[in-house]
Amino acid sequence: MTIETSLGLLRVAVVGGGPGGLATAIALSNIPNVEVKVYEQASLLREVGAGISIGQNTWNVLELLGVADTLTSGHVTDVVGNLNGKTGEEIHRQVKTAPVKRPQIRTQRTKLQSALLAHVPPGVIELSKKLTRIVDIGNDGVELHFKDGTVATADLVVGADGIRSVVRDAAWPDYEIKFTGTTIWRALLPWDDVVKQDPRFATTAWWHGPTSHVWFSPVGEGLGEIAARSWQDPAVHSADKVSWGVPVGNAYVESHFEEYLPQIREVISWVKEGDWREFAAFAGPELSKLTAWDDKVVLVGDSSHALSGAFGSGAGFAMEDGWVLAQALRHYRNDVHRALPLFDRIRLPYYARMYAHLQGQAAQRAAKLAELGESPSYDDRVRVKIIKDGGSDMSWIYGNHIGRVWEDAISALEQGQTEDT
Ligand SMILES: Cc1cc2nc3c(=O)[nH]c(=O)nc-3n(C[C@H](O)[C@H](O)[C@H](O)COP(=O)(O)OP(=O)(O)OC[C@H]3O[C@@H](n4cnc5c(N)ncnc54)[C@H](O)[C@@H]3O)c2cc1C
Repeated sequence: MTIETSLGLLRVAVVGGGPGGLATAIALSNIPNVEVKVYEQASLLREVGAGISIGQNTWNVLELLGVADTLTSGHVTDVVGNLNGKTGEEIHRQVKTAPVKRPQIRTQRTKLQSALLAHVPPGVIELSKKLTRIVDIGNDGVELHFKDGTVATADLVVGADGIRSVVRDAAWPDYEIKFTGTTIWRALLPWDDVVKQDPRFATTAWWHGPTSHVWFSPVGEGLGEIAARSWQDPAVHSADKVSWGVPVGNAYVESHFEEYLPQIREVISWVKEGDWREFAAFAGPELSKLTAWDDKVVLVGDSSHALSGAFGSGAGFAMEDGWVLAQALRHYRNDVHRALPLFDRIRLPYYARMYAHLQGQAAQRAAKLAELGESPSYDDRVRVKIIKDGGSDMSWIYGNHIGRVWEDAISALEQGQTEDT
């Protein structure tokens, strides 16, 4: 199907230079008659956090963006364990044996960011541009107001500004995110000495307590990552959980993992004072539309689905969003009134399925706990916590190929048009 109309230049303002914003900028830079700018609040583009998993779905979109070969650093995570953090009992082990072109890796977040940055054309990113509000100015588009007092205008604003999106707050003023009760502390460490403590630390693994876990994983280049998380009652802690990547003291982090094996506690104590960063997980409800203001605003990445890192693939989802958005604009020659509904049609059901899956998983866990009776043991609670999706097929997430999804959507569209005529 060819689209006859070709509209004039489309000025696109992408707010946020995380994985979603950078991927959107790369994909849009390849589209005729699109002028793209990325506005990022930070003065220096430096990812906070420690490591990130790059699975098959993420590799697929990185290939489409032309970035995959630039990401060369990481630790292959073909084996991932789930163990009891107090006893050391191994409860589950996932082993991938099928040969694949690009195996799943755990890498440093900065490596993914540098790989993406290498593909954003010069002059596209403007740093130190903290968006404070957007204003609908009718036929002239949308005004973007920044903290430094400057104003920019665009025909289309892409909110890639993460879970606390200012763009979303403007266009969906009733949307609210809430502290989920999960707090995560993350740090990187030289990993050779860690493995000397216990050879099992050479393998990527979760070490669990009933309401906490410690994630140990090498991330390549001699470094490894600790991501330790614990439940903190939202009724007590919501008020002081507002930020992302806040430095916290060692004693505070360590106090949450006192029942863990001595060698885990030892490694946790090696993090240099001042190196721990706290990430309080917030989540918000499903949106019924990812586009607003008569197709002048669209959300990609965490701003569009506040799932708080569930599925450990949010960077992949954000980049898929950006790539699909660009294809929809290309397909309809920058006609936002046709492209954005198509974007919605492709991405909304996908996110709806994720929200439904999370609800199902919570119910499954509650049912299993109820089966254990009034006072289940520590070890039983750990086992229930490690529900590996009850054997359900998760390839719709981890094996997703956004290029094929796009092709299927276009075939369905063409089929529909043929049937209509
Ligand atoms: C503990 C944890 C572990 C995770 N592990 C994984 C993993 O292994 N693999 C994976 O794929 N995903 C993982 N995720 C999810 C992933 O980190 C996010 O889904 C991903 O970073 C979302 O990308 P984004 O570009 O939408 O938003 P972000 O990465 O949040 O980027 C948003 C950008 O917008 C900028 N910004 C914000 N507000 C403004 C403003 N007002 N003006 C200008 N700029 C602004 C920010 O500075 C930032 O650069 C994890 C998440 C958590 C919490």
